[in-house]
Amino acid sequence: MDLKEYVFLGKELKDTYVVDVHIHVGGSTRYQKPGNDADSVVYTMDRVGVDVVCASCSPGAYCDWKWGNEMCADAHEKYPDRIKAYAVVNPHYTFDLDAYFANSDRFLGLKVIPFVQGTLPIDCPGLQPYYEYADKYGLPVLFHAWMASEVKDATAVAKRYPNARFIFGHSGFTAFEESVAACKQCDNVLLDTTISDTYDGALERLVNAVGVDRVAFGTDLTAFECSHILGRILLSRLSDTDKEKILGLNAKQFLKL
Ligand SMILES: [Zn+2]
Repeated sequence: MDLKEYVFLGKELKDTYVVDVHIHVGGSTRYQKPGNDADSVVYTMDRVGVDVVCASCSPGAYCDWKWGNEMCADAHEKYPDRIKAYAVVNPHYTFDLDAYFANSDRFLGLKVIPFVQGTLPIDCPGLQPYYEYADKYGLPVLFHAWMASEVKDATAVAKRYPNARFIFGHSGFTAFEESVAACKQCDNVLLDTTISDTYDGALERLVNAVGVDRVAFGTDLTAFECSHILGRILLSRLSDTDKEKILGLNAKQFLKL
């Protein structure tokens, strides 16, 4: 059965390794979707056939980073093989990242989203210690990278910290040329497919521009459902081999899962 048929039959993806590199646990005033706890996430994963998700915590970004990061780590501890946790960092505070990483395996990497933390830029001074830490230990960092300014800043960071690995969330959706340039200039950059609404052919255009190895499945579950983005990939004009890379194999290698 080719991958398109799973969509037509409404069946979960059983024999394909699927990793969602960009989800959220916990509630948010921006998104009123119910079912944002670990149990609900795993229910959705099983329903559509996702093996692993990488989550940050919405309250950790918007308000209380300590509480939010603990919530995310708890989700990982409840489902260690299914939910991986990003620790949200905040440029206004100093974190003891050793407590999150060196002395614990509760977190996979960092989530950086300073536009909701006082509209600071991605390359602001307060975030440099976290990038240095990620570079020292080869950690993955997920950026919210939507606008051209965010993608340009994220690219400068990726160049400066070559041992860290950076996922540009949303593939710099309003900054296509800048995202393509980032992939050409930096080997340590992966683009994710997270987008609530897009146009027919956008995925194929991106893959043609940067190569299929540089794109990974991401959805923003639980802010949105994940099935529409899964369907967009499965119903695209790409080959099944390319779809399997985007759905899971690229992330498996990039995140060392
Ligand atoms: Zn997101």
